[in-house]
Amino acid sequence: MYDKDNKVKAFENKIWLASPTMHGDELKYMKEAFDTNWMSTVGANINEVERITCEKIGCKYAVALASGTSALHLAIRYAAIRLYGEPQPVSKGVLDGRKVFCSDMTFDASVNPVAYEGGEAVFIDTEYDTWNMDPAALERAFELYPEVKLVVVAHLYGAPAKIDRIREICDRHGALIVEDAAESMGASLDGKQTGTFGDYSALSFNGNKIITGSSGGVFITDEKEAADKIRKWSTQSRDNAPWYQHTEMGYNYRMSNVVAGVVRGQYPYLEEHIAQKKAIYERYKEGLKGLPVSMNPFDEERSVPNYWLSCMIIDREAMCPQSRTDHEASYTPQPGKTCPTEILEAIASLNAEGRPIWKPMHMQPMYAAREFVKASADGIDVGADIFERGLCLPSDNKMTPEQQDRIIEVIRRCF
Ligand SMILES: *Cc1c(COP(=O)(O)O)cnc(C)c1O
Repeated sequence: MYDKDNKVKAFENKIWLASPTMHGDELKYMKEAFDTNWMSTVGANINEVERITCEKIGCKYAVALASGTSALHLAIRYAAIRLYGEPQPVSKGVLDGRKVFCSDMTFDASVNPVAYEGGEAVFIDTEYDTWNMDPAALERAFELYPEVKLVVVAHLYGAPAKIDRIREICDRHGALIVEDAAESMGASLDGKQTGTFGDYSALSFNGNKIITGSSGGVFITDEKEAADKIRKWSTQSRDNAPWYQHTEMGYNYRMSNVVAGVVRGQYPYLEEHIAQKKAIYERYKEGLKGLPVSMNPFDEERSVPNYWLSCMIIDREAMCPQSRTDHEASYTPQPGKTCPTEILEAIASLNAEGRPIWKPMHMQPMYAAREFVKASADGIDVGADIFERGLCLPSDNKMTPEQQDRIIEVIRRCF
């Protein structure tokens, strides 16, 4: 265990990695739903969430859903039906053994829907510039599997991927893109927001995201036909008939009007939350100066992240020995050197919450049998390397500068 320095007093209240930050209007819109008895998956809050999403993100259509995961599921299902047709019989997954290229270093909700539909994810390695899907590895994957027609790409921690290059590669190979912007709402590349690069995209209002509805998500597209279909599928695919009649598979994935009230109340604060997250990132960057570490990177010329999570990565030369099994981590302390496990223990000793980098999908026990494509066959496994040397820092909007300074201080002491 980390030897707690008694000069560092624990915070009284826990500093979370990222927790909900409410403002008041959320309650007003929830109460409105209650007072008017629109306590279902229909109502003014839902309509407003869809309208505001289009306005803020710059898309034509938005469909409010129960979660980011359900938005990704329906996005992947819609893209797959467009590519491969309706499954026969209905019990069959739409992807049914077909390969799909997926971001490797991401949260598993990005890629699980491929498996829901019977598909086989092929994980594409990460690049160091933005910690997202490496276009060179994607290019190589198309050489290996030219038959693939669908790519699922995420923007990790709020930094846009090289999505323009990924788009160019996909267009050349006639592949569709499902874009997972769950962590990057409000981030942009060349002034265009994430969530508008995919043929079909998803945002999330999960409790830890930049704004939240306590839960919830949204499906985004510029195709009216796709939006109409997703809205229908998300409400059990009811046909226009006097009785319950169904010609397509349905889901209970619509957003609740109560949850939508929370989202509606949060939306005006998106920019404020981004500004707070940016200040946190800058303070870490400044405070960690001189140490053999760097912050999670982004393209400073062309992209504006939403700074959802501040992360750091330790230089290779400054890493002490660290070992991780499927369930445990340990390390050997060395003067002047450290590792994510030691720093996470140090942060935890302050009653603050850090977290390892999202463990890459090709290293997950459940996906151990899946293919993994690096930029070159004998090249370094970039995702595994960032996972080994990187960590997520406490990034809660409500953390004070003084609290953050103590976190910085405890990190400095690990070296
Ligand atoms: C949170 C998250 C999701 C899932 O969103 P939910 O609303 O929690 O279902 C998907 N992908 C990424 C990258 C996420 O961080």
